[in-house]
Amino acid sequence: MNILLMGPAGSGKGTMSSRIVSKYGVTHLATGDLLRNAMKNETELGKSAKQFINQGKLVPDEIVISLVEEKIAENVSNEGYLMDGFPRTIPQALTFDELAANLDNGIDVVIHLVIDFKELVKRITGRRLCKKCGAIYHITNNPPKVDGICDYCNNELMQRSDDTEEQLTVRLSEYENNTKAVLTHYAEKGLLKKVDAAQDIEKVWADVMSILEAIND
Ligand code: AMP
Repeated sequence: MNILLMGPAGSGKGTMSSRIVSKYGVTHLATGDLLRNAMKNETELGKSAKQFINQGKLVPDEIVISLVEEKIAENVSNEGYLMDGFPRTIPQALTFDELAANLDNGIDVVIHLVIDFKELVKRITGRRLCKKCGAIYHITNNPPKVDGICDYCNNELMQRSDDTEEQLTVRLSEYENNTKAVLTHYAEKGLLKKVDAAQDIEKVWADVMSILEAIND
């Protein structure tokens, strides 16, 4: 099963991705995580991406595309892939469509997590992540058992440097300006399925699963 998961920052891509990966065993490729890793390891690519990420802007297509080409070639399991946060522009989408077809791994479905701006601001500014295992929390909606500490690995929680209201505004306008066209592109191919991401997590998950089960049949 080959899945693209699309949605603005805070729509729940990370949470749904981890559930999809554990249930279906697909390979998870999240360009945001790959870029943050490259930044942390101070690779050349990470250094080039840093200024864009810290301003909430999209990283240039050639950087993101080369990262995805490298990872997908070495990684995809027989169960397929889950692309999370990619493609976000039309050039990325066109390149990826070709790449996926060449790997004999064409896209089966594009899931769009739909949610409005006000809800996103609440979610994003309260979001916390575990530094070590990447588990995602929210200070009021999904708090850890002990304030500031991960339930799974006892490590300290952090806030992403781009999870402020100011950066979010830039990230959402980047999303509107670029990613809407990508959604139209996949709608025209008949691959797009919308999910109301403002519902509670279990309802969003039930909707995502019913889409994936229909493909699996
Ligand atoms: P995310 O973790 O998906 O919210 O991504 C965090 C940041 O990484 C974004 O605000 C962009 O700066 C960058 N990024 C992630 N994926 C892409 C992509 N497909 N194209 C361009 N920039 C990206």
